[in-house]
Amino acid sequence: MNRSPKLAIIGAGLGGTACAALMAKAGLNVKVYEQAPAFSRLGAGIHLGPNVMKIMRRIGIEDELNRTGAHPDYWYSRDGITGDVLAQIPLGDYALSHYGASYLTVHRGDFHKLMTDALPPGILEFNKKLDKVEDRGDDVLLTFTDGTTETADIVIGADGINSKIRDSLLGAELPIYSGYVAHRAVFPTPVDSGALPFDMCCKWWAGDRHMMVYFVTSKRDEIYYVTGVPEESWDMSKSWLPCTKDEMRATFDGWHSSVQALIEGTEEVTRWPLLEREPLPLWSRGRLVLLGDACHPMKPHMAQGAAMAIEDAAMLLRCFQELGFSDHSAVFDLYKANRAERASKVQLVSHNNTWLRTNENPDWCFGYDVFNEPLVSAPAH
Ligand code: FAD
Repeated sequence: MNRSPKLAIIGAGLGGTACAALMAKAGLNVKVYEQAPAFSRLGAGIHLGPNVMKIMRRIGIEDELNRTGAHPDYWYSRDGITGDVLAQIPLGDYALSHYGASYLTVHRGDFHKLMTDALPPGILEFNKKLDKVEDRGDDVLLTFTDGTTETADIVIGADGINSKIRDSLLGAELPIYSGYVAHRAVFPTPVDSGALPFDMCCKWWAGDRHMMVYFVTSKRDEIYYVTGVPEESWDMSKSWLPCTKDEMRATFDGWHSSVQALIEGTEEVTRWPLLEREPLPLWSRGRLVLLGDACHPMKPHMAQGAAMAIEDAAMLLRCFQELGFSDHSAVFDLYKANRAERASKVQLVSHNNTWLRTNENPDWCFGYDVFNEPLVSAPAH
């Protein structure tokens, strides 16, 4: 590989942090700029499939993650009213032997912290909100809202659904409100779980809504739920709103006693709009390239949004390693050729909210190994 250019990542969310960790581990010259002053342990959980855990192995935090998170034996889908099993997808030991890595559910904040701690010192800068990006041909000028500037050879937009880098490639445009909200709550596991023992990972489905439930710690002492519930409109100036137990009781009135027990155990619950974009026609231009929600935001119903951002990061590194640094357009074309189809498929299945509702084979998703998939060539221009 020829000389490493100066890489700047905008946004240290799950995709940007994974990207910085992978690039630094590969010996590249990378910095990541994050608008937030610091990160806190926000109330949310996340699934990490074997497709992500193989990337965490590369970053060096697989073992610690395995110690931190819960290892569900199965993904259950159950009827929200009767509790009948609709699907039972093997994870646990099966994931290890069949996919070569574990399937975890974990607190999102714990996961983010482990990745952030894996970064070499001095790589991540907080309080750096990108205001303007200018591709000057030979380099890129980044201007932050605090008035400071930086230059970089390559800029990776990992700045989420309202990405400035996306805006600069395609023009400013609000994401699409999907007509659904998600309620999210993390709280100590209730002792009384209704008629059924809590499954380690269960999606309750009935009518036009669902509730996904899983543990977020290895001790199973914290549990998380996230819903999908139709709501006609959303005020796009609000990124989330508080919600009450009464609202939850009304939303899931008549549902199974396990769901009721979860609602009663809730300490604090919030309501989030589910936002999407159509697949973007452009993933890069000049020295700018996108990854994760900046590029393909989706409804969270496959629990694979962050996974796609992290896979993007790993594939981008792989393409640099494959082609070197002298022709970044060729690298970006190869990257898109190897990511767009999979990311769009995950976007579509997430949109339709059909994933694992009935017994189906999830190998195409969980079995994907970004480091060993055969690369497809970029189409000729
Ligand atoms: P983000 O995580 O949004 O990070 C973007 C970062 O960029 C942020 O830190 C932000 O502060 C920073 N930033 C933004 N603008 C600027 C700027 N101008 N300058 C500097 N920094 C900036 N995915 C899963 O894989 N599994 C799950 O179980 C799962 N559950 C979900 C549940 C819900 C309810 C939702 C809404 C999403 C869920 N997702 C899940 C999806 C997942 O959260 C996202 O896909 C993922 O966070 C995208 O990562 P990202 O790094 O691209 O963007």
